[in-house]
Amino acid sequence: MRRLLLAVLALLVLGAGWLFHRLNDHPSLAPYASLWLASQQPAAAGPRVTVTFLGVSTLLISDGETSLMTDGFFTRPSKASVLLGRIAPDPALIASSLERAGVHELAAVIAVHSHYDHAMDSPEVARRTGALLVGSESTANIGRGVGFPEQRIRVVQAGAPMRFGAFTVTAVQSKHFPHGMAMGEIRAPLVPPARATDYLEGGSFSLLVAHAAGTLLIHGSAGWLDGALAGRHADVVLLGIGGLGTRDEAYREDYWGAVVEAVGPRCVIPTHWDDFTLPLSAPLEAAPRLLDDVPASLAFLIRKTAGGAPGLGLLPAWNPVTLLGAGAAHCGAPS
Ligand SMILES: [Zn+2]
Repeated sequence: MRRLLLAVLALLVLGAGWLFHRLNDHPSLAPYASLWLASQQPAAAGPRVTVTFLGVSTLLISDGETSLMTDGFFTRPSKASVLLGRIAPDPALIASSLERAGVHELAAVIAVHSHYDHAMDSPEVARRTGALLVGSESTANIGRGVGFPEQRIRVVQAGAPMRFGAFTVTAVQSKHFPHGMAMGEIRAPLVPPARATDYLEGGSFSLLVAHAAGTLLIHGSAGWLDGALAGRHADVVLLGIGGLGTRDEAYREDYWGAVVEAVGPRCVIPTHWDDFTLPLSAPLEAAPRLLDDVPASLAFLIRKTAGGAPGLGLLPAWNPVTLLGAGAAHCGAPS
């Protein structure tokens, strides 16, 4: 009996060790060195829009006058707390991250859906920056759970344009990547600490961010609604690839067609490729091989953009890159 117990214990320890090892096995980003984008020296004055990538689908968008942020996820709780514990926004970490990104004022924080890796920190970011909290009814309930003022919450109406300074943001109904986890709606104020799986998806949106300098499409999750983007145009697509590496070629082709081809961009920039259980203060790592196959997704995108129309690029974390207007980054064929 004792031997059996020891054997079971040894197996458990080995299993936990294996899991820990596999969850920390990140593919190298070295093969993609040529894809990192940098702003060009502007040839002429004129409207321009910079985007700063801050992990997952957190993006700081600015024209120098008005700044917006998608998601605003900075806490990035560890694997152990996501799998076994309860999670909550970390106000000190959020404050220092906003400081590092040079963010003091935002017009809006817009959550693309309500999973924790998108919307958990959105109310705290909005609170610190005087922003409106914009998102689904589920995102509104994440705000209510931390006492975010009701008069600064805007529940998104798909298709209805929202004005922020010189930006016009239109949410387009979309669909989440089909992993089946934490789907449904948050129907009452969600008070942290909570389980990661309490942050239910609550519906997913693509965001069209239009400006005199051009239009961005921010597509946070690798699912789609057939025909939702028909007749829309964007110059640059920020394309969520989380989970895409686990799907077959047919799925990837359909995703490309429904989102990228639909809007005819000149540049495609993958997002949601990083391991979001690691801190944003360290260099970003690709999602662990156990959960996704980022190299397979990037290989697919490299193949689709081989002709340079559209081009492909990656945004380095923390660095504002001009994506629209004068001095926009050159997004060419991958080499
Ligand atoms: Zn999600």
